[in-house]
Amino acid sequence: MKKLIFVTGGVCSSLGKGVTASSIGALMEARGLTVRMLKIDPYLNVDAGTMSPYQHGEVYVTDDGAETDLDLGNYGRFTSAPLSRENSITTGQVYKTVIEKERAGDFLGRTVQVIPHITDEIKRRILLVRDAPDVDITIVEIGGTVGDMESVPFLEAARQLIHECGRQNAISVHVTLVPSVSGGEIKTKPTQHAVKELQEVGIQPDVLVLRSKDPLDDSVRRKISSFTNVEFEGVISAYDLPTIYELPLVLNKQGADAFILKKMNVESRHAELGAWREVVDKIKHPARKVRIGIVGKYMELHDAYKSIWEALCHGGVANNAGVELVKIDSSRLEDANAKLDELFANIDGILVPGGFGERGIEGMILAARYAREHKLPYFGICLGMQVMVIEYARDIVGWEDAHSTEFSKTTTHPVVCLLEEQVNVKNYGGTMRLGANESVTKPDTKIRKAYGAERIVERHRHRYEVANTARPELEAKGLTISATTPDGELVEACEWNDNPWGVGVQFHPEFKSRPTKAHPLFKAFIAECVKQNEAKAGQ
Ligand code: GLN
Repeated sequence: MKKLIFVTGGVCSSLGKGVTASSIGALMEARGLTVRMLKIDPYLNVDAGTMSPYQHGEVYVTDDGAETDLDLGNYGRFTSAPLSRENSITTGQVYKTVIEKERAGDFLGRTVQVIPHITDEIKRRILLVRDAPDVDITIVEIGGTVGDMESVPFLEAARQLIHECGRQNAISVHVTLVPSVSGGEIKTKPTQHAVKELQEVGIQPDVLVLRSKDPLDDSVRRKISSFTNVEFEGVISAYDLPTIYELPLVLNKQGADAFILKKMNVESRHAELGAWREVVDKIKHPARKVRIGIVGKYMELHDAYKSIWEALCHGGVANNAGVELVKIDSSRLEDANAKLDELFANIDGILVPGGFGERGIEGMILAARYAREHKLPYFGICLGMQVMVIEYARDIVGWEDAHSTEFSKTTTHPVVCLLEEQVNVKNYGGTMRLGANESVTKPDTKIRKAYGAERIVERHRHRYEVANTARPELEAKGLTISATTPDGELVEACEWNDNPWGVGVQFHPEFKSRPTKAHPLFKAFIAECVKQNEAKAGQ
């Protein structure tokens, strides 16, 4: 029998439901089970593609080009579960499907209602994932907080599924907060109320994951167990950790995975957690340190570049180095008084990530120029690659007004521009080059060396491309086009020749990096930054 695990949250948001769901997934995989992950977002947007990174953090892109919630990034980092459009459900998608069916006459004669029509559509989408061949366990994370109006239909669908499948086939994991007040006293009341709220919608949790600052005593766990009807073994303390990658180990130590499997009557081998232990050990005790300057535009909100931070951390793990992130708002560099030498003092490498819109572009161009001229490792991702091309065109080719047509309509040297067929695109939902595309890497380039492969597949999310008209001149002046689409038409990567590691890529490698297997480009970038750091220390 295929199993379902629903993960919900109580008390407040941002407790780490996503990391909890992902950690449970990692533990199930460590026991040899096949896992699928599913995120439910109770907002009306059809997908996250049109949402500002300031509002909602990073937009995570799947192979099939779905623009999803950043929690899918966690699923991708903690588990090997494939992620696609099916693995992200929003209220918008559900209502859209039901309303389209209604217009098509599928419900002719009947009144279309939240229950059963909306809940049935939610259940259909959950079961679609659960019932795929060879899947043992599907973990469904319901976003938002229990008690929010928005999540009611999803909780009702979960309740019905638990009832219909039986409690040994569908269980509930509830993540709540256990705060401490001044004097350090632990307060269980918010959790008691949060569980009551879940019970009110008809769901009895099987497992409680209690978020707190410090590990909770057994006496607190026992008290919560007796107030909530959750077995003591199922009351788990998830205290603050130096790295999120430690959560699978912490859950396992308290027997959470064994308890979940016992509840669902699933036999498995012991959890093999050696790879996770190694990751955590390397993050906590790195042999060396590097400082990476990230010059981007959404710097105030950590979640806006979530996958970049994580991929840099993975690159560190692969090189046994701790990565210190130095976040620099690119518009700061544009100030005439900005002292780049000071800003970049003791920085071992610069990364310019993706982004949209004009603000801060000139600052990014200055950062790229600084890296090129000072022979600092540089990693340009998507917009960061376009910036690299603009800078090279201006300074080396001598096209002073070179720009991307995204930022200047009047430039006489549009070195980055829209593909012909995209010029008239008016509808901004899902009109970009999205999802996995194949590229061919050139021999004897940094990128070929990093991947060790001629053909690579990476995910895209962008509208603009390097202009083919500018390519001959850029190449003649020494910019290496190090990867293209298989037909040679689109530039996928470029490199500076006289820099230890100056690489720009049009795609988003950060989405495919895992702590246990760093992405080859992040691994190579950090390796070069380590060299820089050691060279400086040796001076
Ligand atoms: N704004 C650029 C484009 O649309 C880059 C996008 C990105 O960095 N993801 O092409």
